[in-house]
Amino acid sequence: MNIVVMAFELAALVQEYVNRVRRFYYEVMLWDRACPKCAGRVLRAVGEGRCQCSECGHEFDPVIAFQTCTECGGSVRLRVSRYRCSVCGSDVRSLFHFDARVFDATYFRQKMAEHRVRKKQYRTCVANAEPVPRSMPVGGLPIDLDSSPGLANALDDLVGCDIQQATFLAGCFPRFDLSRYQSHIQAQLDQFEVSFDEIPVLEQNARLDRIWRFIAIIFMAHARLIDIQQDGHMITLVNLHEAH
Ligand SMILES: [Zn+2]
Ligand SMILES: [Zn+2]
Repeated sequence: MNIVVMAFELAALVQEYVNRVRRFYYEVMLWDRACPKCAGRVLRAVGEGRCQCSECGHEFDPVIAFQTCTECGGSVRLRVSRYRCSVCGSDVRSLFHFDARVFDATYFRQKMAEHRVRKKQYRTCVANAEPVPRSMPVGGLPIDLDSSPGLANALDDLVGCDIQQATFLAGCFPRFDLSRYQSHIQAQLDQFEVSFDEIPVLEQNARLDRIWRFIAIIFMAHARLIDIQQDGHMITLVNLHEAH
């Protein structure tokens, strides 16, 4: 009895079963839905969150076409790796993704292309001993709040409290440890994206924790480890490394 061969056979059978359940799930979810272009009634799934009309060939996202916000009935839009209501901002759970994560392929293609161009430019600058443009990541430099005019004020506004730059630099927050916050935030980024408010508190002082978390994500975004998206009061961090 070869138990390894049997284990692989079992795994293949389970996978085949999952595939059949997936096909059945999509058939049920797309049953009696009409193509938004030709009103054709035969739609088939062509991928996670993608379907195609058998009559006119129109391919579209069924979540956006058929689902609405359960809170307010607003239309749904894709935000990197989740669907949100375009009216009230609630998360909308997709009915057209069987087991895969929601994934905005266009967004990630564009981000990774930008990332590659920047990396190439950076290597060229370093090789030719040219100054590296400010938009590029530069490791090991000390934090300088004066480097971008208005940064300190913008940080104050965003965290909703007043940090005096002088007291900040004089060591008012001696315990702020950027690398500790960075590892903490990185540990939360097992998903493609995480909302700023979903990151668990690391410090007892919640307000201070919020400020430090915010500073940490700014530096992480500058180092191109994450991308930050702001949508009203909602801040979303997108893991650029995961996209690789
Ligand atoms: Zn059609
Ligand atoms: Zn809504």
